[in-house]
Amino acid sequence: MLSEMPHLVLLVEDDDQIAAPLIRTLEREGYVVERVAAGLPAVERVQARGVDLVLLDLGLPDVDGLEVCRRIRANGYTGGVLILTARGGELDRVVGLDVGADDYLAKPFGLAELLARTRALLRRAAPSADDPAPAAPVPATASAAAGADTTTLQVDGDARRVWVGADELVLTAKEFDVLALLDSASGAVFTRERVMDEVWDENWFGSTKTLDTTVGRLRQKLEDSGTSSHIVTVRGVGFRLESSPSDA
Ligand code: CA
Repeated sequence: MLSEMPHLVLLVEDDDQIAAPLIRTLEREGYVVERVAAGLPAVERVQARGVDLVLLDLGLPDVDGLEVCRRIRANGYTGGVLILTARGGELDRVVGLDVGADDYLAKPFGLAELLARTRALLRRAAPSADDPAPAAPVPATASAAAGADTTTLQVDGDARRVWVGADELVLTAKEFDVLALLDSASGAVFTRERVMDEVWDENWFGSTKTLDTTVGRLRQKLEDSGTSSHIVTVRGVGFRLESSPSDA
């Protein structure tokens, strides 16, 4: 399944005792692994591009892992972020997902569990935003965008890219998955259970606050983009994507 271009996993972990077996295991699975032992080098490495997944320890010697996550997302990184931490509290979990992490694994964890999460995130990850290939919007999208008004939302499921008019909306993997699902039947209500089932791995054990924080970030991004599409919460049931003309 791993093709000619192996995935690059960046391990951010200051503890050698923890890092060594992780690196061995990931390399044996065919991943290319780079390791940094502090937060700021991690931010720099991600900024230099090519990273498909970040395995991120929270307790680091310079800046906290949550701050690393916040910064790499602010810099536009859209690949996967899996937080590894000894802190098992619900608060950390929610805060971690709030700053843009995709998943969370509490130490101590089994290596099989780590590999399952890694595979799931890489499977869902957007094609690396670093890919030089489509420098400009694909022709169909560009012409459609030119004809459409600048508030029209277009979800390109194959390329895993989203456009508002001619502008690309940069989303994390999970944000994209939620939006693509809602967009697949615009106007229809998707129950919370269905969104959880389809977007999060079945081995996800976190609370459903994950869903709310992801939807919250996505809603904010849609709002900031100026699109006429927005996510409506149907209280006690789920969500739907609604598109209202900008002059309505
Ligand atoms: Ca640590």
